[in-house]
Amino acid sequence: MSIIRPLSLVKNLFAKPMTLRFPQESLPHVPRYRGRQLLNLEKCTGCPVCSLVCPNQAIELVELDGKKYPQIHLGKCCFCALCVEYCPRGALQMTHEAMITIMSTADAIYDPRKLSRPAA
Ligand code: SF4
Ligand code: SF4
Repeated sequence: MSIIRPLSLVKNLFAKPMTLRFPQESLPHVPRYRGRQLLNLEKCTGCPVCSLVCPNQAIELVELDGKKYPQIHLGKCCFCALCVEYCPRGALQMTHEAMITIMSTADAIYDPRKLSRPAA
C-alpha cells in the first residue's frame, strides 16, 4: 500500500469542507439564472401576450384595482422565460429567486401583487 493515500487522508482532516452550510451559506447566483418572474405593474397593460405564449398555461389574467394583470402558477411554470421574452412592454423579468417554499398548491399561485414584490 502506498504511503501517499494515508497522507492525503490526514490532509483532508485539516482541509476546508467542500460542502456549504446551506442556507446560511450559498454559492453566488449564476448570471442569467431563471428564477421566478417579477412583474412591473406600471408597465403592464394587461394585453394577454404572456398568457398566450406560455407553453404550460401557467398564466391567467386576473383583475386588480379594475385592471387586468398576469397571475402565474409557479407549479405549472417550467421557467422557459417566453413570457418575459414576448412581453411587448418589458413588464416581466426573470429573477434569481430560486428558493420557493410552499405548503400548499395555493402558495404556488403568484397573483399580481405577489408577482410584483422584489425577489427575496
Ligand atoms: S406582462 Fe406584458 S405581456 Fe403580460 S399582460 Fe402585462 S404587458 Fe401584456
Ligand atoms: S416562464 Fe415559461 S412556463 Fe413559466 S410562466 Fe413564463 S412562459 Fe409560462
